[in-house]
Amino acid sequence: MSKEEKAKKEKKTKKKGKAKKVLLILLGVFMVLMIGAGIFAWSYWNKLLEGCPELDLSKRYNYSIASTVYDVNEEEIAAYVGNENIEWVTIDEIPDQLKEAFIAIEDKRFYTHPGIDIRRLISAVIGQITHSSNHGGSTITQQLIKNMYLTRAKTYERKAQEIHLALQLEKQMSKDEILEWYLNILYLGETNYGVKIAAQDYFGKDLNELSLRECAALAGLVQSPNVYNPRVAVRENNFEPMNYRINTVLYTMHEQGKITDEEYEYALNDTFDIKESTERFLLYDYPTYVEYAIEDVAKELLEKDGQPVTSETLQEMRIKIRNEGYQIYTAFDRNIQDIAQQEIHDFDNYPRTENGEDAEVSAVIMDHHNGRVVAMIGGRSETQSAEGFNRATDSLQAVGSSIKPLSVYAPALDCGCNPGTTVLDIKEKIEGYNTDEGYPGGLTDEDVITMRRALEQSHNIPAVRFLLEKVGIDKALEYMEAEGFDLNHISPSPAGMALGASDVSTLEMTAAYATLANLGEYIEPHAYIKVLDRDGNVILDETTVERHQVYKESTSWLVTNMMETNMVNGLGVRGRLKHMHCAGKTGTHEQKVISFGGYTPYYTSFVRVSSDDYVNLIKPSSYYMTSALWKAYMQPIHEGLEDKEILPKSAEELGIYKTRLCTNSGLLPKDDCPTQYEYVTDESKPKERCSQHYYPNKEDLYECWWDENGVFHDNGWWDENGVFHLYTDGY
Ligand SMILES: [Zn+2]
Repeated sequence: MSKEEKAKKEKKTKKKGKAKKVLLILLGVFMVLMIGAGIFAWSYWNKLLEGCPELDLSKRYNYSIASTVYDVNEEEIAAYVGNENIEWVTIDEIPDQLKEAFIAIEDKRFYTHPGIDIRRLISAVIGQITHSSNHGGSTITQQLIKNMYLTRAKTYERKAQEIHLALQLEKQMSKDEILEWYLNILYLGETNYGVKIAAQDYFGKDLNELSLRECAALAGLVQSPNVYNPRVAVRENNFEPMNYRINTVLYTMHEQGKITDEEYEYALNDTFDIKESTERFLLYDYPTYVEYAIEDVAKELLEKDGQPVTSETLQEMRIKIRNEGYQIYTAFDRNIQDIAQQEIHDFDNYPRTENGEDAEVSAVIMDHHNGRVVAMIGGRSETQSAEGFNRATDSLQAVGSSIKPLSVYAPALDCGCNPGTTVLDIKEKIEGYNTDEGYPGGLTDEDVITMRRALEQSHNIPAVRFLLEKVGIDKALEYMEAEGFDLNHISPSPAGMALGASDVSTLEMTAAYATLANLGEYIEPHAYIKVLDRDGNVILDETTVERHQVYKESTSWLVTNMMETNMVNGLGVRGRLKHMHCAGKTGTHEQKVISFGGYTPYYTSFVRVSSDDYVNLIKPSSYYMTSALWKAYMQPIHEGLEDKEILPKSAEELGIYKTRLCTNSGLLPKDDCPTQYEYVTDESKPKERCSQHYYPNKEDLYECWWDENGVFHDNGWWDENGVFHLYTDGY
C-alpha cells in the first residue's frame, strides 16, 4: 500500500469514525426524545386516570332489583318494581345462541382479548375518520365498565379510565363472569335492563324460549335501543330498521360460523310476535295489602336506621325497597282476603250517602295472638290504582260507641270495677261534661245501670260517667295510648273518648280490639313476618315488633265476657256467629259513621262504613248493618275452625268467679236487694254491703251472708225480722 493509499484509507476511516459519532449522537438524541415522549405519554396517561374510580367488584350486585312480596304460604303476591329493575340470570341460564348473538355483533374476539381489542380500536378510529363505519370500538368488557363505573361523557379521560379498568377487570374475573354481568345490566330500551326482563317485556318469553331471530333482535338493540326497538317498530308501524339490524346480526353470526347455513336461512325468514304494550307496570294483585305491607316495612326500616318517619323519608324508603331486591314475607292470607273482599262487595244492605253515593267500607282482619294483619279491605271493591288512598290506614274518622270497650270499659275494669258496677243513667248534669245540657244524648234507663247493661244497650250517659267517675280522662288516655292509638287525634274529652268522637283509623281500632282479645297484651299490628335482603340476610323480623301488657289478664276476660253477652242480649246480636264464640261492639257516630269491632278465638276484625266526604248516611241508625256485615265475612272465614272459648285462660285460672251483687248499688247484697250474679275478682269484688236496701223480705231468699269476721258466705238467708239463717237451719 502506497503512502498515498494509506493516507486515503486513514482519511476514510476518520470519515467513517466521524459518521459513526454523528449517528451515535443522533441515536442518543432520538432515545432521549423517545424516553421524553414515553415519560410524557406516561404522565399524560396518569393524568387521564386521575379521578378514575376504584374497581369495586361488589358493584356487581348493586344493580336495581325489584322486591318481592310473599303471602303467608310464601307464595309470591307481587313484585314491587322500580324503573331500573333487573332480574339476574346466571350464565348457565342464558342460551348459547343469545350469548353468541351479542358476542358476534358487539365483540367477536371477546374470548381472546385482554379487555381491549387493539384491532377493533384501530378499525373504529379509521371508521370514524373515513365515516365508513360507526362502531364504538369498545369491547364487551369496556361497555360493562362504562355502564357500571363511568359517566356517559365522551372525553379522553373517560376513555382512558375505561381501558384501564377493563384491563384490571379481566385480571380479576373470568370471561363468563364478565359476560353474565354484562348481559344482566345491559340497557335494552324502554324500561328494560338485562336480557331476561327485555325478553319478557318484548316477547313475553323466558330466555330458553327465544328463537334465533329473537336473540338477534335483542343483541341488535345494544347499538341503538330506540331505533331498533321492537315496540317502536310496532308503534310506528315501521319494521324496516329493526329487521335490517336483526339481519345484520344474523349475517355476522353466520359469517363467524356461529350458526349453520340452515339456521341462518331459517332465521332470516322467521317472524315473531311483539307484545304491543308493557305489562311490567300494571298494578299488582291486592294493592291495598301490598302497599300497607310496603309502608309497614319502610317505617320499620327507617326506625331501625334511626331515621324520622316523615312522608319524605317514607317515599325515599319505598323507592329503595323497589330497587333493593328485598324478599318480604308477609302474614297476608289470600283465602281470608278473598272471602272478606267478596262478602263485603256482595253485601246488599249498605246505606247511601246524602250525596247519593254508596257508602264505602274499610276493614282489617288481624291474628291477635301475634299482631299479624292477615287481610285488609280498602273499599267495597279492591282499589285499581297504585299507591292510592288506603281507607283502612289513611282515613281517620270518628267511630262512635265501638270505642267504648277500649276507652272506658276495659280501663274501668282494670281500675277495680266489675261488670256489675253501677252508675247513674239519668238525664241530669254530669260534672265535667261540657255541653249546655250537661249530658250526652241517646237512650237511658232513667235509673242506675250496671256496666254490663250499659255496654249491651250502648247507653252514652253511663259511658261518660264510668269514664269520669271510675277512670278519669288522663288515666283513660294512658290506656288508649298503650292500646296503640295516636293521641294526637284523640280529643281528650268525655265525648271524644267515651262516645268515640275522635279521629281513629280502622287499623288502630283493630289493633286495640286485638289487645282485648290477647289477654290484655298489645302487639303492634304488622304485615311482615320477615324481610330478607338480596343476599338472604334477615334484616327485619317480628322480634322488633312492639308488645306490652296494657290490661290485667282478668280485665281482658271480663270485657270479653261482657261483649260476648252483647252478642246475645245486646245490640251486637246480628253479628253473632254460628258455631263460633265471638265478642263485639257496635258503634255509630252522628249520622256519618257506623262500625263494628269484635273477635273470635282466632281473629279480630274492625269494620267501618261511612262516606269518604264524611257526609251523612241515609240510613244511619242501622247499627245492625255493620254487625251483619261483620258476620257476613267472619262466618265464612271461620268455616272449618273448631269452636272454643275465645281466651286461652279460664275464669278460674284468672281468679274470676261469680258472686251475687245488688243490681242497684253494685255492692254486696243485703236483705231485700234486687240481685244478679256477676263475675268478679277478689280485687274487684265490692268490699261494702249495699246501704240502699235494708228490710228483709220473706219472698226474697238470699244465699249470701257475712260471718262475724266479715267473711262472706253464700249459703243462707234473712227472715222478715232481719235474722240470718243458714240453709241448714231450714225455713
Ligand atoms: Zn242493694
